[in-house]
Amino acid sequence: MKYAVIDRGDSLSKQLSQRFIELAGTKGLQHDQQEPDIVLSIGGDGTLLQAYHHYIDQIDSLSFVGVHTGHLGFYADWKPNELELLVDKMSTIEPTIVRYPLAHIELVTKSGTYNYFALNEFTLKGVDNTMVAQVNINGEQFEMFRGDGIVISTPTGSTAYNKSLGGSIVHPTIESLQITEIASINNIVYRTLGSSVLLPKHHYCDIICMKQQRIQIHVDHIGKMFDDVVSITCKVASKKVSFARYRPFPFWNRVRNAFIGVDSLK
Ligand code: NAP
Repeated sequence: MKYAVIDRGDSLSKQLSQRFIELAGTKGLQHDQQEPDIVLSIGGDGTLLQAYHHYIDQIDSLSFVGVHTGHLGFYADWKPNELELLVDKMSTIEPTIVRYPLAHIELVTKSGTYNYFALNEFTLKGVDNTMVAQVNINGEQFEMFRGDGIVISTPTGSTAYNKSLGGSIVHPTIESLQITEIASINNIVYRTLGSSVLLPKHHYCDIICMKQQRIQIHVDHIGKMFDDVVSITCKVASKKVSFARYRPFPFWNRVRNAFIGVDSLK
C-alpha cells in the first residue's frame, strides 16, 4: 500500500508527518507522494480540503485519512497520540471505504467554461455591489436574488459555511446539494425564499448573472475573481470522494462533539 502525507505546515503537524513516515517505514508501507492509494492529511479540516484539491485528478483511485492537530474535525478523526495505532491498522487491515458526494459546478463566462468539483461548497459573492442573479431550478425560474451571495454546499460541507448561514446539516448518505443565501434583500422586485433549499441528486440549479458585475467565487478555500460570468450550473457530481475508515466515525457523533460537546449532555 502506497501513502502520501500532506500536513498543515505548522511545527506539530510537520513533526507528526515525520513521525508517521518513520513508523510507516517499519511496517513496510511505501511512501509515494505522486501516486498514493491513501492520502494522510495532518492538520485540520482545512488541511484535508488542501489535500483533496492537490489530488483532485486522482480521486477515483485514492482515499483520504485525516489526523487532527487541533479540535476533532469533520474529515480528520485521528488524534496525534494515535499515530502508532493508525499505522498498525493501515498495515494490517483493509479499511471500510466511505464515499461522499461532491458538488459539480460548471461556470460559463464570456471567455470560457470552467468545471469545478467542491468538497465543502461553492460560494459566489458580489465584489463591488450586491450580486444580482436569477436562480433557476431544473430549467425553470425559481427566484430573483439580490444580496451578498449564494453558497451551494455538499452534505459534508453542510457543517461548514452553510451552517453559519443557518442552513441544515445533511447526512452524507443523502446525495444532495444545499442552496443557502448570504444576506438576501427582499422587496417587491427581488424575492427569494429565505430558507435554504435541498436539491436531490437528479435536480440541478442554474444561477444566471443579471448584470455586468465582478463576482468572487470560492471552491472550498480556493478563490477566484471573474467579471464576465454568464451562468453557473450546480449539480451533485457523478464522482465522489473516498475516505478510508479503520474504525467507525459516525457522522452524528462528529456533529454532537463539534457543536454541542459531550460535557453539556451531563
Ligand atoms: P479556515 O479558516 O481554515 O476554515 C474555516 C473553518 O472551517 C476552520 O475552523 C475549519 O476547520 C472549518 N471547516 C472546514 N471544513 C469544515 C467542515 N466540512 N465542517 C465543519 N467545519 C469545517 O478557512 P479556509 O482554509 O479558507 O477554509 C475554507 C472553508 O472555510 C470553506 O470551505 C468554508 O466552509 C469555511 N468558511 C466558513 C465561513 C463561515 O463559517 N462564516 C466563511 C468562509 C469560509 P479546521 O480548523 O479543522 O481546519
